[in-house]
Amino acid sequence: MKTVEEHLAEVLALVAPLPPLDLQLLDAHGHTLLEDVVAPQDLPGFDNSAMDGYAVRLTDVAAAAEGSPVTMPVTGDIAAGSRSAYALGPGFTARIMTGAPMPRHADAVVPVEWTDGGVARVEIRRAPALGEHIRRAGTDVRSGQVVLEHGTVLGPTQIGLLAAIGRDRVLIQPQPRVVVLSTGDELVEPGQPIGMGQVADANSYMLACAAREAGAIVYRAGIVGDDARKLMNVLEDQLIRADLVITTGGVSKGAYDVVKEVLSRLGTVSFDEVAMQPGKPQGFGTIGPDDTPILTLPGNPVSSYVSFEVFARPALRRLAGHADDELRRPLVTGRSTAAMRSPAARRQYVRVRAEKRREGWSATPVGGHGSHLIGSLAQANAFAVIGEHVVEVPTGGNVEIMLLDSARDRQDAARR
Ligand code: AMP
Ligand code: MG
Repeated sequence: MKTVEEHLAEVLALVAPLPPLDLQLLDAHGHTLLEDVVAPQDLPGFDNSAMDGYAVRLTDVAAAAEGSPVTMPVTGDIAAGSRSAYALGPGFTARIMTGAPMPRHADAVVPVEWTDGGVARVEIRRAPALGEHIRRAGTDVRSGQVVLEHGTVLGPTQIGLLAAIGRDRVLIQPQPRVVVLSTGDELVEPGQPIGMGQVADANSYMLACAAREAGAIVYRAGIVGDDARKLMNVLEDQLIRADLVITTGGVSKGAYDVVKEVLSRLGTVSFDEVAMQPGKPQGFGTIGPDDTPILTLPGNPVSSYVSFEVFARPALRRLAGHADDELRRPLVTGRSTAAMRSPAARRQYVRVRAEKRREGWSATPVGGHGSHLIGSLAQANAFAVIGEHVVEVPTGGNVEIMLLDSARDRQDAARR
């Protein structure tokens, strides 16, 4: 049998971060930037007025005061968007609007509130300081400056900045696209009547959501019966939209374990026993003309979920561009509130409720060992991980706890 670590290493060797994608700004929203963005020009791009008011030469209005206003002719209006090259002669003012380009020779703006608001002539009641109410070119962003660094997550304000410097597209880290399908003649869609011998397809829904929380775009291909030809057809159809395919069921030693039967023949997918519980039968490899990676997880719901967490999630996170030390769920050490048993030479994942108390983390087993027990799986928020060399953890003993932090995943997803 392979160890969990050996199997994970082989699975990870199959996948590499997806190459950068060039996206339009709204589509880039929420993604991680994969370039340093350099401003091609200054912001503001030109000297402009910060107020609605009057552009002046300082020397003309230096004497203006509340009791002794200065009155000057107004030569015209400069609106935001004005493109005429305007020069201000000595002794003149021009009405200027917020954002309008400053005329040449003007060195301050008198806000309209300091004047009588005149149109042909204006009475100025207060003198501005040199440069007052002018937004100078380049005081926000300098041409050539890196405004957003590689690795930045693009939220609304970052997208706004990209637009402001005139960028319409950027390189981002794409999300991996995952196709999830479940196999089994016994499966029916939730919502349909469940007849004798049938079970509702829980896995493809559970894994679709788990893949989403791992950062993927998910296509749930649904149920495929235990029929070799149908399975091949569905896989061929689905490959076009997959960076990774995940199947469940049909990889054990049963007579109708069609996934194993069909994919073994291809020669590019291998089936192994991994020294873990639950989740012993595992398959992985590549299929199709583009060598699309595929993980074939076991069918029992708990086995499939544990396998997803241990193998598929790290693979998805690698595809999504995460660094090697960010692929796995966080592990903490805590105390077990009950005795836990584990088979020798297998790594056991025990469903637990983990709690952080003042003294530290604790883990309380929920439900039993059976890998079909989805009722208690839904009560667990963590797995206690009992190492290959440990057969028993006594009550109060230390255990490693793998936190299934759904809430944090959902926050990350909301940023995307
Ligand atoms: P298999 O790995 O196909 O032999 O399936 C093992 C067990 O898991 C059987 O009891 C199946 O009925 C059950 N199972 C397989 N796939 C699913 C699924 N998608 N949803 C719920 N249970 C499943
Ligand atoms: Mg089956």
